[in-house]
Amino acid sequence: MCTRITRLVFVKSSRSIFNGLIRKAHNWGYRQGIVPEEWHTVFPLCNAKFQSPIDIKTSDVAYDSSLEKFNLEELEKTRDVDMVLCTNHGRSIQVNLQGHDIKVTGGSLPGTYKVEQFHFHWGPNNNVGSEHTYDGKQVTAELHIVMHLDKYSNAGEALKNENGLAVLGYLIDVGSHNKNYDEITDKVKNVQKQDDILPLQSFKLSSLLPSSKCYYRYLGSMTTPPCAPVIWTMFTENIYLSENQLQEFRNLGNTDMDLIHNCRSPRPLDGRIVTSNCNNSS
Ligand SMILES: [Zn+2]
Repeated sequence: MCTRITRLVFVKSSRSIFNGLIRKAHNWGYRQGIVPEEWHTVFPLCNAKFQSPIDIKTSDVAYDSSLEKFNLEELEKTRDVDMVLCTNHGRSIQVNLQGHDIKVTGGSLPGTYKVEQFHFHWGPNNNVGSEHTYDGKQVTAELHIVMHLDKYSNAGEALKNENGLAVLGYLIDVGSHNKNYDEITDKVKNVQKQDDILPLQSFKLSSLLPSSKCYYRYLGSMTTPPCAPVIWTMFTENIYLSENQLQEFRNLGNTDMDLIHNCRSPRPLDGRIVTSNCNNSS
């Protein structure tokens, strides 16, 4: 997420002064600065239990007939929004929806949630890039729609509170050209510098999503620092983009190493049981 989180790393010995300086300069990252294995040294929650992403073993998913359908009607509205490259703190391409008052209800979430932004995670080739995996299989990318309880003004405030954050996630795999993504993938190349902002025209969030309403539910965390708690919904049906479209994301890695590979690897399940609103998870 493009949340502004800056913390200095304390340098413990003279030997580590050089490392400390590098870390201060880069903040957290994937291959630069504070790498995922060390996030917890600055953001303790990243080493806590019940982290995300996870591998979802479909044979262990428990059907829960009480899980409701989502009401995603407000994602149908067409609106002009901005796309932004968050290299320093979020390390992703993000589309900001704050101020558009898009509300999501249902899905057995504990209240009404407002969509704040969506962003992507990807990797250097077709076999690396998603954060969640289904039955151990990593696919090429992942879409996260970040929402916060509507009583909070933004995700940064919500993440400090119980049930403050919820994310809708979709795996993205390689397929044929997906024209619904043209507005994003054609323009990714134009957001090359940190916090570059690019207007997108007549954008409908629902057009990016597959039709299946089946989802997995579990309690986890943000997959980036500060790794605060998140109510996760991972939809079972994948999104498909062409190789060329996916390459547009990977090309961002030409300017920032962390934009070649911006996915965290699956965390331990810690005894959690993943549930689903569909009996056969299809
Ligand atoms: Zn994410």
